Amino acid sequence: MGGGIVGLATAYFLAKEGVRSVVIERDAVGSHASGFAFGNLSPMGGVGIPGPLYPLAQEGMRLHRELAAALPAETGIDTAYRPRPALDLVFTEEEQRFEQGRLGWRQQQPGYQVRWLEPAEARAVEPRVSEQILGAVSIEGTAEVDPYRFVLALAQGAEKLGATIRHGTVRGLLQEGGRIRGVRLEHEEMACGRVVIAMGPWSGEASAWLGLPVEVRPLKGQILRLRAPGPPVQCSVGWSHHYASTKPDGLLWAGTTEEEAGFDENPTQEGRETVMGALLKMMPALAEAQLVRQTACLRPLSRDWLPVLGAVPDRHGVYVATGAGRKGILVGPAMGRATADLILRGGTELAIEPLGVGRFAKMAAP
Ligand SMILES: Cc1cc2nc3c(=O)[nH]c(=O)nc-3n(C[C@H](O)[C@H](O)[C@H](O)COP(=O)(O)OP(=O)(O)OC[C@H]3O[C@@H](n4cnc5c(N)ncnc54)[C@H](O)[C@@H]3O)c2cc1C
Repeated sequence: MGGGIVGLATAYFLAKEGVRSVVIERDAVGSHASGFAFGNLSPMGGVGIPGPLYPLAQEGMRLHRELAAALPAETGIDTAYRPRPALDLVFTEEEQRFEQGRLGWRQQQPGYQVRWLEPAEARAVEPRVSEQILGAVSIEGTAEVDPYRFVLALAQGAEKLGATIRHGTVRGLLQEGGRIRGVRLEHEEMACGRVVIAMGPWSGEASAWLGLPVEVRPLKGQILRLRAPGPPVQCSVGWSHHYASTKPDGLLWAGTTEEEAGFDENPTQEGRETVMGALLKMMPALAEAQLVRQTACLRPLSRDWLPVLGAVPDRHGVYVATGAGRKGILVGPAMGRATADLILRGGTELAIEPLGVGRFAKMAAP
């Protein structure tokens, strides 16, 4: 249940192997983070990279490259996948030490070209970056996608192969002797032999259904879409957890915030000021940019910032796939692939052991 990128990718990969599933979505597909994310596909950094997220991030990248051709052919939807180099700016000596410390590892990863750039070299890539930078890291091999079109294409691709997407709110699970028998919706029950909990930041509701902590909470993020003067920003300019890039709609998209604001999905003035402040720190020449649209959505974030992925211990037929945090557009397809593998074959070649849902119960134990 859950019509975000993770639930839909699971349904898509199941359908590809002839298994029909029902995606239950209480709003509309892609109506939360999966439809309003930025769409950067950058497997070279973030929590768990290098580390337990890296295999999933690389598989996510591989699947995105594959789906960039497959989904438009299958559905007629252009997902706007395109290579997008990153230019990560460095303002302080501490940031410089951090970036140069991980440069060697990054340069060893096949498929990416990673270089340290002096300020003049960085400005040769994007002339509007701040005069204040000490340098920048250039990464080639990264990409971007339009998240909303991507989830729509996954949904249509899955439907064409027999999946059903239906409206409904899941209220609980029907279980018998540790085995799943169905799900309880608001006004009806639906029988099934397997269930995937992919409810994004709302997945914590399943803790009560499973008697096991699914420790996922919302981390709000906001994005501004701006009409900016001058030529498009051709790479993804980043600093700290902020970024900006011109999207195929011709607008400059700038993000983001990291806010602990519960389940509030409303854009705020404070969010606007934070994002604008970071944008102008990165590229002061964009002070004249005009706001066209502001969006806010919620990342599903686990306690250790890593996805929660795998079969639920002692509950036959129940799987959890959530907690992708800031990387869900990148890793969502890999999470769907791994979940489909678990359902179809009882195992996956992806290294998902460190991501198991049981880890929170262990963390909680004295
Ligand atoms: C501002 C911002 C920018 C981002 N940028 C990037 C990026 O550039 N690159 C990247 O890789 N990631 C990015 N992310 C992260 C990414 O968007 C998320 O990790 C990802 O979308 C999570 O997908 P999901 O399917 O787990 O959850 P969601 O997209 O939240 O989907 C879950 C769905 O479950 C449904 N649901 C919940 N409860 C129930 C219920 N009881 N019954 C039925 N349905 C239910 C919800 O309505 C929802 O549609 C960004 C996130 C934010 C907020």
